[in-house]
Amino acid sequence: PSPAVAIGIDVGTSGVRAAAVSQDGNTVALATAPFQEAAETRAPAAWWQRAVECLSALAGQTSLDSVQGLAVDGTSGTVLSVDPMGRPLDVLMYNEPCPDAQIVKRIAAVAPADSPAQGANSGLARAIHLKTVSRDAMVLHQADWIAMQLGLENTISDENNALKTGYDLAGERWPDWIAEAGMPIDSLPAVVRAGARIGTVGSLTKAFGLSETCHIHAGTTDGCASFLATGASRHGDGVTALGSTMVLKLASDRPVNAVQYGIYAHRILGFWLIGGASNTGGAVIRSLIGDHRLEDLTARLTPDTPTQLDYYPLLKPGERFPVNDPNYPPRLDPRPADDALFFQGLLEGMTAVEKRGYDLLEMLGGPSLASVRTVGGGSRNPVWTLMRQRALGVDFQPARSTEAAVGTAFLVLAGSSH
Ligand code: ADP
Repeated sequence: PSPAVAIGIDVGTSGVRAAAVSQDGNTVALATAPFQEAAETRAPAAWWQRAVECLSALAGQTSLDSVQGLAVDGTSGTVLSVDPMGRPLDVLMYNEPCPDAQIVKRIAAVAPADSPAQGANSGLARAIHLKTVSRDAMVLHQADWIAMQLGLENTISDENNALKTGYDLAGERWPDWIAEAGMPIDSLPAVVRAGARIGTVGSLTKAFGLSETCHIHAGTTDGCASFLATGASRHGDGVTALGSTMVLKLASDRPVNAVQYGIYAHRILGFWLIGGASNTGGAVIRSLIGDHRLEDLTARLTPDTPTQLDYYPLLKPGERFPVNDPNYPPRLDPRPADDALFFQGLLEGMTAVEKRGYDLLEMLGGPSLASVRTVGGGSRNPVWTLMRQRALGVDFQPARSTEAAVGTAFLVLAGSSH
């Protein structure tokens, strides 16, 4: 087997995963360390402990002495405050809104209207709150802190994690308005391109058989990492996630930002990653039909005979992308007596949302769709895939991997070559 040359570590919501890949991008080892209880999800010591378990497990599967670099991805928007020794003080997770409405107002007053740092759910709002609580603290992202445990001596972040904290990708700096909003810029990490080399691993090299010249690379967010994992990389490559909700992502030659649709652009490798998240998706199927019947019903789908039901499947009113309307009504009537017909109507409706989503990304300045890779539960339905292929009219490619850790290892591979 080819030697492992890059490692990606994915700190997620249910645990930590790590992947070692060879030069040609094949996964040679994969390890998982689930969080044992809910509290671990927001406990830095547990993130690190599970990461160590994953590295040990990788070392048990393959030799790590040929590994030239590693990087970490974390949940996008999760921030923590650390004391001057780097010890964690407080954490605010990606899904915990900033508890201080005044901070959100201050950001609104000084930040550009289309900044991803706007709103109670931005990383910046959380970061300012942590800084307000602990005056001497530095504020970091989840992935940054794990990189420090790996041996990084300075606080360094990447453009992807820094985006929701207000980082200016065009100017390549923390903009001055951040300080006006209440976040001293010297309390934030330096920011470099995702995948750039930023240091070498520390004293833990021996424990895992890593070489002492093994580099630490700037990481990314879990969302960007999942995209990279699929192998999508050319302008026009799309990735559709058909999970509980439907999320579209597209590699673009230009940045596209449209705050009303929740669209913002990450810079990663040689492209801009744009996308949007719809509230339609498998959760509607699960709730209205139930997952246990889907295989039987799939066998009775008639993709050559569309139902004309024209559904917009939502569980409750409200949509962000590709329609921006907080009161947008679900369209699920009439419901035919035959559940196979009903299921087909739901799939047709979601297919139409997917098509409209990619069309909207193009209309807003993105590239036209050239290929699609699909991840998530819905990717297992061959008839739906056929319906989607007909509607989208582009090449469908298999996802190389669905492991975010693999995508982060790809980032290391790319960052090692220059
Ligand atoms: P999550 O977003 O929760 O991680 P998954 O990627 O595991 O979701 O996908 C689960 C969703 O996929 C469920 O909502 C389920 O209804 C849907 N799903 C599973 N199998 C099929 C199928 N054969 N056809 C269509 N949808 C499916």
